[in-house]
Parts: sequence; C-alpha cells; structure tokens
Amino acid sequence: MTHATLPTFRHGVHPPERKASTAALSVERMPFVERYIVPLSQHIGKAAVPLVKPGETVVRGQMLAKPDGFISTAVHAPVSGKILNLDLQPHPSGQLMQAFTIQADSFSAQTVDTQVPPDVDSLSIQETIQWVQNSGLVGLGGAAFPTHVKFSVPQGKRIQAVILNGCECEPYLTCDHRVMLEQPGNVVRGLRLMMRKLGAQKGYIGIESNKADAIDLLKNILSDQPDVEVVALNVKYPQGAEKMLLDAIFQKEVPSGKLPLDLEMVVNNVGTAAALAQYFDDGVPLIERVVTVTGPAVPEPKNLMVPLGTPLFEVLKHCAVDLERIRQVILGGPMMGFAQKNLQAPIIKGTSGILVFEQPLAEPIGELPCIRCSRCLDACPMFLNPSRLAAMVRREWTDELQQYHLMDCFECASCSYVCPSNIPLVHLMRLGKLMIRQAKAKEQVK
Ligand code: SF4
Ligand code: SF4
Repeated sequence: MTHATLPTFRHGVHPPERKASTAALSVERMPFVERYIVPLSQHIGKAAVPLVKPGETVVRGQMLAKPDGFISTAVHAPVSGKILNLDLQPHPSGQLMQAFTIQADSFSAQTVDTQVPPDVDSLSIQETIQWVQNSGLVGLGGAAFPTHVKFSVPQGKRIQAVILNGCECEPYLTCDHRVMLEQPGNVVRGLRLMMRKLGAQKGYIGIESNKADAIDLLKNILSDQPDVEVVALNVKYPQGAEKMLLDAIFQKEVPSGKLPLDLEMVVNNVGTAAALAQYFDDGVPLIERVVTVTGPAVPEPKNLMVPLGTPLFEVLKHCAVDLERIRQVILGGPMMGFAQKNLQAPIIKGTSGILVFEQPLAEPIGELPCIRCSRCLDACPMFLNPSRLAAMVRREWTDELQQYHLMDCFECASCSYVCPSNIPLVHLMRLGKLMIRQAKAKEQVK
C-alpha cells in the first residue's frame, strides 16, 4: 500500500512533521536535580489529597497524595528527600496550584522500594482498578485521563476491542515512537493485559506510516498472534484523537456526545500500555515519563526519561538551551500544546514534549475578515462549521452554539491552522465552550 492509500479519517490537516532531530535518538535519563515541584493535580478529575506534611522525609515512589474519588488518581514522590512546602506553585496550566516542594536527598541512591502488585490474572476487575488507581497511571498521550477509569465498564456494556494509539500525530514529538522501538515487549504485554481484564477479543495498534521501523518491529513481534493487528495509517493531524483513530481504523463514527465505549471499544496510548505492564512487573508507580525536548532553540535535542516534578528550566539547561535567548516554550505539540511563561513550572504526567523557539512559532499578525473560503470546514475532523461557530461566539448566542454542536470540538486547532484570515478560531471555540458551561451553571442555580 502506498502512503496515500493507507487508512485515515476524513478531513484534518498536514502540518510539517519536524520529527527528524529526535526520531532516531534513544531515550536518556535526566539526572536528578536539587528541587522538585509535585502538583496535587496532574490529571483530569479531582486533585489528590495530601498524605504527608512539610518537614517529613519521603522515599522515591512513596504515595504523597491519595485519589479523591473515582475520577482522580494518586501522586507519588519522584525522589527521596524532604518535603519543604505544600503551597501554591506554578503549574503548566498557567495557574498557581497546590504542590509539594521536595528537596532531593543528594546522598540517596534514589532506588524505589515499593510493593509489587499480585499477578494481575489473579486479581478481580475491582482489585485491578484499585491497584491501577494507586499506581497514579494516566493516559500518557497528553490528556492525562486516569487509566483505571478505562477498566470500569458500566453494567450492560462490553468491550470487544482494545486499540492502542501509536499515531503521535503532533509535529516534533517522538516520545511514543521511542517507547514503541525501545519497549515493544511492554507495549504488547500492556495491550494483552488490557484485553484480558476487559474480555476483549481483538487488539489493534494504530501507527502512522512515518514510523515504519516501529510498524515493522511490532508486526514482527505479533506475527504469530492473529488476534492483535498493527494498522499502518496515513500521516495526518489529528489522527491521534480517539474518535479520529476509530474512524481511520474501522471507518466508524463515535456519535456526538458518545464515547468509544459506545462502540464497544477502549483506546489507550502506547506509552500508557508500556507503563501498565511495567507497573505489574515491578510495582513502581508513575514517577517519571519520556519527554521529547526539541525545537530550533535546543542545541542538544533529546528524548528524556524525566522524573515528574522536575522544573522546566532544569530540563532545558540539561539540553544546553540558552535561557536568555529563548522567546517561546510550548509544552506538548505545537497544535494543542500550551505556551509557558514560567519555567519554574514542572514536568507533569501529561507532558509529552517541550518545544523551544528563538522566535515565537506564530507571530501575532492582524486578524482579517472571514472570506468564506470554507477551509476551516474542510479541515475540521468533527465536521463542525468553525467560521459560523466563531460568529455565534462573538454574538454570545449560547443556545445556537449548543445546537450547532460546539461541545463536540476538542480544540485540535486544525481550523486555526488553515484560516487565511488569521481568525483565532480555536480560541473562540474555547471561549464558546466556556460560555456554554457558565450558562448551564447559571441554569442549575436558578
Ligand atoms: S478546533 Fe474544534 S472546530 Fe476547530 S477544527 Fe478542531 S474540532 Fe473543529
Ligand atoms: S478558514 Fe477563515 S476565512 Fe476561511 S471560512 Fe473559515 S474562518 Fe472564514
């Protein structure tokens, strides 16, 4: 099959890939630093509840904060050391958030002493959920949705297939690519673990064709396992979004307001699968992750295994970045990532990449009137009408925004990327979604 005839979803965009500087670089370990900032909220859902106080010493891998309810997960110490503070600290979201500050013990060997979970096949689904929740594992693709929640299938529903997302469709990022190349056994074992616990008959790994070495490697490993299929996909953004991935592999649409679960499927990131398999082997909770550090202002680009909580400036210094010269730092990919103002903010569970630029990626240029070119409609993978929605947001027509399915927008920025008039479409979509949430909250108060 040529690249052009490989499966893909409808609509989407083709930003330049820019992965060449790190795609072939093996993952290196980031050395330990002096201080760590460990936020209580590094995941979707409620922040974790502290279990330790300032002044206490902690060991690497120790649970620092426990989950607060089901849509929440645990937070662990990335290093052995002393808790200096629990107070408001810079967070990659741009806000100040409650976080532990840990002074690393420079004499510690930084080994991890944790309880290894029992054989996962001897655990009930409820016990598995409990162990995974206590591991602090979240989706490592960037969304940071707690992984244990995906093991909870409502009564009356069933899962037929588990799909691993190895698309890594954002430009620049190569951390998932490296995990597939360096930990293919963990990826496959994590997938099989999910399939067994969910009772799924089939497994799929969707990978974009610009990662041919990972496709070949996994196909080779799985050559005698017909119930798991590696699917090579055309390169297109945002193919790594759950709904787009299912459209690409199965040509099935997840209806508005529904989840992959409604198609009897569950989607997880390849890095999450690898981390899950590793956790049931050695009991080490989520205290580090692979981060791609790259961009034109990075003299020594790297794929790094970084302890969570490491301040951004430490990671940049390790990659020989001149902090005086940089103009823009983005966490995540350039399409959905967030620009950072404060480099004291830490690496958290959802941080897949740090992109560094000497010139801002997008220079602020004036917005022009909409010329009704329809490029944003052709780009939108959710088949929305961003031009029309933007006009409604400006008029604050919240009822109409809901009727035109604004809440289906997952802020992929494809519309902004193609707009010749520089209309900040994705920002307007975010604003519109906020307006809808506020209107609903007001309704509930009445
Ligand atoms: S940001 Fe929203 S409206 Fe724009 S292309 Fe993506 S899903 Fe569509
Ligand atoms: S891409 Fe921009 S100019 Fe073209 S229709 Fe959409 S909003 Fe208007």
